[in-house]
Formats: sequence, structure tokens, C-alpha cells
Amino acid sequence: MRVIDLIQRKRDGEELSREEVDFFLKGAVGGQIPDYQIAALLMAIYFSGLNDQETVDWTEGMLGMAPPLDLSGLPGPKIGKHSTGGVGDKTSLIVGPLVAAAGVVAPMTVGRGLAHTGGTLDKIESIPGFNARLKAAEFATLLRNVGVAMNGPTEELTPADLKLYSLRNATGTVESIPLMAASILSVKLSEGTDGMVVDVKTGAGALLHKITDARRLAQTIVTVAKRLGKKAVCVLTDMEQPIGNAIGNALEVMEAVEAMRGNGPPDLVELSLEMGSRMVALAQPDRTVESAKEQLFQLLNDGSALQKFRQMVQFQGADPQVVDKYEMLPTASAAHTISSPRAGFITRISADDIGQAALVLGAGREKADSKLDPAVGIVLEHKVGDRIQAGEPLCSIYYNADEHLEEASATVEDAFRISATAPEAPTLIYEVIQ
Ligand code: URA
Repeated sequence: MRVIDLIQRKRDGEELSREEVDFFLKGAVGGQIPDYQIAALLMAIYFSGLNDQETVDWTEGMLGMAPPLDLSGLPGPKIGKHSTGGVGDKTSLIVGPLVAAAGVVAPMTVGRGLAHTGGTLDKIESIPGFNARLKAAEFATLLRNVGVAMNGPTEELTPADLKLYSLRNATGTVESIPLMAASILSVKLSEGTDGMVVDVKTGAGALLHKITDARRLAQTIVTVAKRLGKKAVCVLTDMEQPIGNAIGNALEVMEAVEAMRGNGPPDLVELSLEMGSRMVALAQPDRTVESAKEQLFQLLNDGSALQKFRQMVQFQGADPQVVDKYEMLPTASAAHTISSPRAGFITRISADDIGQAALVLGAGREKADSKLDPAVGIVLEHKVGDRIQAGEPLCSIYYNADEHLEEASATVEDAFRISATAPEAPTLIYEVIQ
């Protein structure tokens, strides 16, 4: 078999066989196929796609590169949660501990932020001492002891996704729907999960801007999961404006902790309860989503989710007092307020621009190996639909390097639209595909 033949056939829209997919993935992960040929096939897939059978084969092939986490000794179904990436999306920080408090084991392989979107791994690692580089055996032990653990992607569990994702990120092929589906499914299934709930984001700040594309990704994930004997529920959600008010790693940890104290912004709480309740309903099929939501609302407000979060922080090597003493988190040295130039209604806060401004400040990565600043970011004072007066603060920018402030401020100002008439109330959750 020759890689060049596979590239040409996929370029011409032909179907790859299971043997060809396996041959390619083994060679890509094993180092026998050079990056330029891997990238060429990824680009051919971006344009020609993969049909459902090829996507099943690609997912199984990726999964087959390493044995999945063995959680068979743990009672009850294990349920994963994933998001396709957004701005201000700290939902995983809340949902993992929340469902664990309801008795659902939640293995969470969490990723780094890319481009203007944030990553749960960067957020959780802003807690000094938090170890998200666990060996598979340690990951399993934590899940047994706490019910939730957050770990970065590893060569041990997800070697194929590590290899392919970094090349996709460098070659403009991240937005391929079958490659996204295979990436998400293979990572979730490598955690030893029986099912998963995936937040498929759509809108200006999401990877997939159009709802039709988000729907196609959701349908592919659900179809391929079924063919693999697993359950997937995809929730299509809005990413036009950031989730919650905080954007930036340590700032988002604080907001997530506040949400687990019962003080979360309404959209963040709504999304966390939606994702969490669907995880509980997958784990406990006799439950309705509504009854799970009521239980999780209780656990979010009575301190149970926060207690799980504390335990997870402690078991993963950090000081759990951070939950009560935010000064233990990295903090920025300076703050700058952006005020509204006029009175009116906020009709738009572009998640894309806010994410871009946070990136400029150092909260995200320009390149995979860029160093980020965990302290910096933006805190919104208002959301879409709010009425404001001229001169009223729209948001605060927290920064460390003066040279970043001007560009970040201009981008943030551009993110806001203020009009004389009130907008329609924004929709957060569009539909559920399962
Ligand atoms: N998120 C993932 O985990 N993988 C993708 O390919 C895209 C988004």
C-alpha cells in the first residue's frame, strides 16, 4: 500500500477501505509517514469528506492506537462531556464535579485553548500546583476516589488525536466535520466512557459558524457513536456572545467556583444544568432530564458540587483552599475599564472579538507552543439585551503588559454594538440531537 495512492484517491472523492485507514493511521502515529503526506490526506478529507463508514473506521482506527482507560472495575456507566470550543466556556469546570456529586463517574480529558477559543486544560492549570498530566492508572484511581478528574491529552491514551490535531491546527483542516467527529469520539471513548454529551457550538465565536454545519457534526457524532455501540447526545448551543462574564483562565476558574456557590451568571448556570442533566439521564436511563436538572440545581446550590471540585483539586495536587481564597490564583497587575459611548441596548457582544482581545492580552495561544498568562482577561459587566447609560462600564480588561492594552481595548470596543431598540432575547440552546 502506498500513501500517495490514498491521497490521490481521496483527492478524487473515492472511498478509503478499513485497511487503508488503519495503514495510514498506524504510519502517521508511528512516524513512518512524513507530516507533509499526513497533511495532504487531511486536506483531501477536508474537501472530499468521509462517509459514515469511513468515519466509523477512522474513529476506530484512532482508538486502536492505544488501549482505552480501563474503568470496568468502577460501578455504573461512565459519561464524558465535551465542547467543540468557545469563548468564556468554563462549563466543564462545573459540570464534571456537579455530575460526580450526583454519583456519575465523569472522566474528563480536557484540551488547550486554540486560536481565540479557551481550553479547560489551561483554565484548570491556572490553579497553582494542579497536576493535569496524570498517567492512565492515576487518572483511573482519581475517578475511583473522587468520581471526577481532569487530565490533558496523553500519548498513553490519545496518541492519534495528539498527532493529527496539531497538524490539522497548522494546516487549516480543523473544521472538517468527519475529522472533528472522529477526534471527539476517539478522545471521549479513550476515557473508558459508555456515553457522552457533546456541546456543539455554533455562531461567530465557534469553530462552525453555521447551524447547518453544527447540525451535520452532531448527526455524524450520534450516528458513528451508535455504530460503535455507544450513546452520544449532542446539544447545539449559541456562541455569538461569550458564556458567562469572565474570559481568561484564572478569571474563569473564579467564575466557575462562584457558580458552584450558587452565584453563577444565568447563561452559565443554564448551560451547565443542561449538559449535566443530559449526562445524568444517560447514566441513569430511568431518570428524565427534567428530574436530573432539578437534582443538579440543588447540588449546585447546596455546596455539593463545590465540595467535589475541592476534592478534585486536592487529589490533583493543588491546595483546595484556593476555592475560598481567590488571591491564591494568579492575578493581573492592572485593570482598565471600557465604558459605553452612548445610552441604549446592547445588541451584540462578538465572542470572536472578545476571544481575540483575550488572546492579545496573553490569555490564549497564537501558536501551539506560545506561553500564556493565566491571570489576564476580560470581565463583562453586561450581556446582550441589557440597557445601559452613556459612560456606564461595559467591561474590565485585566492585563499585565502595557503594550497589549491598546490593541485589546480597540478589539473589545469593536465587539460591542449598542442600539436604540432592544434586541430579541438571545437563544442559548437551539436543539438536541440524539
Ligand atoms: N474539538 C476536538 O476535540 N476535536 C476537533 O477536531 C475539534 C474540536
